[in-house]
Parts: sequence; structure tokens; C-alpha cells
Amino acid sequence: MADHYDVLGVSREASDDEIKKAYRKLARKLHPDVNPSPEAAEEFKNVTHAYDVLSDPEQRRRYDMGGDDAMGGFGGAGFGGFGDVFEAFFGAAGGASRAGRPRSRRERGDDALVRLTLGLGDVVFGTHRDVEIDTAVLCDTCQGTCCQPGTEPTRCDVCGGSGHVQRQVRSLLGNVVTQQLCGSCQGYGTRIEHPCAACSGQGRVRSRRTVGLDIPAGVETGLRLQLAGSGEVGPAGGPNGDLYVEIHVDTHPVFSRDGDDLLATLEVSMTDAILGTSTSIDGLDGAVDLEVRAGVQSGDVLKIDGRGITGLRTKKRGDLRISVQVVTPTKVDHKTRKLVEELAQRTKAPDPRLAEHQQGFFSRFRDKFGR
Ligand SMILES: [Zn+2]
Ligand SMILES: [Zn+2]
Repeated sequence: MADHYDVLGVSREASDDEIKKAYRKLARKLHPDVNPSPEAAEEFKNVTHAYDVLSDPEQRRRYDMGGDDAMGGFGGAGFGGFGDVFEAFFGAAGGASRAGRPRSRRERGDDALVRLTLGLGDVVFGTHRDVEIDTAVLCDTCQGTCCQPGTEPTRCDVCGGSGHVQRQVRSLLGNVVTQQLCGSCQGYGTRIEHPCAACSGQGRVRSRRTVGLDIPAGVETGLRLQLAGSGEVGPAGGPNGDLYVEIHVDTHPVFSRDGDDLLATLEVSMTDAILGTSTSIDGLDGAVDLEVRAGVQSGDVLKIDGRGITGLRTKKRGDLRISVQVVTPTKVDHKTRKLVEELAQRTKAPDPRLAEHQQGFFSRFRDKFGR
């Protein structure tokens, strides 16, 4: 290693003041903020080290006596790690190339979200919708370069294109150098002198577009479908974010949902309940024929296999479960009343009584499994 006095260009008898002045003069010439070349960084490292040694009376004394590098002695004196810190900031090999890579203007775009309201009928088989979304898209004029066509970014002369500058900080361990983003180019290493007018140098513009969405069957309120790469384009034409489609399924006046099964209630008149009947109802996917057996009870469930919702994952259709509700007439004329009284006598209808719990349970069990 070169002699510390030679490095600073001072005599061995130089005063502290002379050493400080010599260092300042060299630092103004060699500091990476001013001179980004690798050679200057290496020289600045040597100059700073020489100054660290000679500006400390104890280290300077030891250096003058033995001529050995003060770094070792320093470590021995209990300040272990000085060399590490020094090397951490300057690196072992020297040169501005270690100053880190400049930032890229290209970044991934944000995710976009659209909300989509569907009817329960849309969910049975799935549906297709065209939705309008408003996102950033690649700028046609500059294709994401952010520059006016025919121009290019120019290298930042403050950081030499590295995007970083080094700042010297005086600390307990001597002069250490920290690395910061270059304020002149915001760390990009280049400057755009002629930004694209169409996108104000952003590389992207906002645009409304229509996206065709295939909504699978079986979706539920709150579900978010992810369309990878259909979100916002990133700054400077960076990769697109994703598009999320948040589903809301409107409640239906007649049908409700239990998993992939559809539920509904069928009102059956008292006489139909006694005599049985057949009928046809409007299902979400067309007419459904129903057989109501004679003697049907309120709460009985008619199960129509495979007329429910197509499962999102299973792709198999659930069932349609129709629960019977026997409707008792509330107004009867005199003649009807006579007939019902006669019926009551003929059928020897039992007095009202408490039903056994088990019985009710088993009757539902039976209906559910069709036994
Ligand atoms: Zn542009
Ligand atoms: Zn810069």
C-alpha cells in the first residue's frame, strides 16, 4: 500500500490542519458524487483510509513508528470490524460498478377489480358477460419507452448511470460511505429529456375497454375470479397486474340455494294434499313436472335429482328440493263448512295431540332419501 502521506500529498511533518485541507481538496475531486469512475472510487478509498489514519493522533503515531498499516492495530485495540465496515462500503475490488444497479422504470401493474351482479339463473349453468373496465394500457405512441418517438433516455451525469450516489458520513469508525438513490434521476440512471407527449412519459395511458368474461357455473356471492394478466399495465410498459371479478348473486324471489342444491316451497291446497295432484312449475332451467302424492304433509320434500346448480368444482348438478306447504283455507262458505264437518265425522279425525319427536325426525329422514 502506498505511503499515507504520499497518498494525501503532504509531508511527514504536516499539521492536522494541513492533512484535513489536503483530504478535502482530494475528496472534492474524487468523491463518487462528483466522479463516478471506478478509478476515482479506488483512489478515494485510499485517500479516505490515509486520512482516517493520519487524522487520528494515536493511529498516526503508530503508523509513524512502525510504518505498518493502522488497520491491523486498530482491530487489535478492540475496534474489531473497522475493516469490515470499510470494505462493506467500498467493497474489496474497488470501482463504481458496485454501486448497485439502477432502478427499472418498468414495474408490474396493479391488479384491477370489477364487480359483477348475476341472477341465480346465471349460476345454474354459468354465463358470459361483457364488462367495461377502465385500466391503464400500454401507450401506443411510445410503446412503453416513455420517450418521444425517435428519442432515447440519456445517461444521468450525476450518478454516471448507476442510479446511486455515495455520501460520506463521519462516524465513530471514521469516514464511512453510504449509498443513496441519485436524486437527479430518482435512481433510474437515465433521464428522459423528451417525454412522450401522449402518456406524459408514463409509458401507459388510461383506457376503457370491454372484456368478455366467461363466468363458470356454481359461483357464489363474494367469490373472486382471477384473470391473470388482465389488470393494469405497469409503469413504462411493465407486466400487467391481474383482473379480479367479484361476484354478487342477487337473491331470487322463489328459489334459494343450499350448496349446489336449489330450494323452493310448493303451496298445496288442503284438498290437493288429501287427494294428491300433479303439476308443473317453472324451474330456473325450464318446466319441472311434480307429482304430489295423496296424503302429502307439510314439510315433505320432493326431490328432483340433477335439477340444481352445476357445481363450480364438481361440474355435477345438485338437486332441486321442493318443500311442501299445505295451505288451509281461511274463508269457507256455509256449504263447504257443512261438507268439512261431515268429513270430520266420517274420518273420525283424532283430537289434536303432541307429536313424538322421533316420528317427525324419521318422516323427514324418509322423505329426504325417498324411502
Ligand atoms: Zn407514451
Ligand atoms: Zn442519476
